[in-house]
Amino acid sequence: MAAVNRGIDVPPGKVALVTGASRGIGAAIALRLAADGFAVAVHYQTSGSAAAQVAEQIERSGGQTMLVQGDVSGRGGMEPIVTEVAAKWGRIDVFVPNAGIMVDAEIAHTTDEQWERVLATNLDSAFYGCRSVIPHMIAGGFGRIVAISSQAALTGSGGHAHYAAAKAGLLGFVYSLAKELGPSGITVNAVSPGRIDTDMLAARSEGRMEEWLAQTPLRRLGRPDEVAHAVAFLASDEASYITGLNLHVNGGLVMG
Ligand code: NAP
Repeated sequence: MAAVNRGIDVPPGKVALVTGASRGIGAAIALRLAADGFAVAVHYQTSGSAAAQVAEQIERSGGQTMLVQGDVSGRGGMEPIVTEVAAKWGRIDVFVPNAGIMVDAEIAHTTDEQWERVLATNLDSAFYGCRSVIPHMIAGGFGRIVAISSQAALTGSGGHAHYAAAKAGLLGFVYSLAKELGPSGITVNAVSPGRIDTDMLAARSEGRMEEWLAQTPLRRLGRPDEVAHAVAFLASDEASYITGLNLHVNGGLVMG
């Protein structure tokens, strides 16, 4: 990897920060935003070599990128990530809080630690991240926040009450920020994937695929790039009058 994280290079275009961009949906979003001309900060926690591959792919295609590492789940987790990107590139125009985890535990067996970790990773991180990033958007005169929620926010998910609660909370958070930040010209939207073919889904797919496909009108899993296209649209100039939307990318699993 030639130039990743080296030197001070003020990017020519707009800057996007995507959390959890080492794998799955986040990696696809980072690649798509880079293809659209954004300088993309590829954030990761533990999958350093996978994140480096995403960054290399962006550079090979002529894009500009940097790697940024950190745990988004704790208090004080997001702020240094945002600061590092803003310090290198001087601005952040698009923020995609995508990093997330799913833990399998029915309510009676959900530990305090599991509840707190799932909420902290999927919901608190969006709060801390947005609070840090918004001043940069206001200073730059442009802002697009696209949070990755889930169809589970609307349908619920047995064995994942903590996850569904976090993702539903994220929607309330998005709608509220859309109201608050509209006057500053910052749009805030959510994308809610259905069942997308990533590690998160593979970990719990055994014996369930037939049922999942039967529930999905398009009769297949979604691909990470199909979620990325929706995020890219909401991050684009073309989506300038769209705020407070929850955009489904779910093959028809949830409608409306
Ligand atoms: P994934 O393949 O499991 O990837 C998760 C990503 O989140 C990884 O990049 C991981 O980083 C990062 N991450 C996890 N915990 C973190 C932490 N504490 N701090 C920093 N980064 C952390 O998941 P995915 O399927 O792509 O999911 C991406 C988002 O879409 C999540 O918010 C998920 O809830 C949502 N979603 C997914 C589906 C689906 O069917 N796949 C459906 C609905 C919603 P490292 O690997 O570097 O540690």
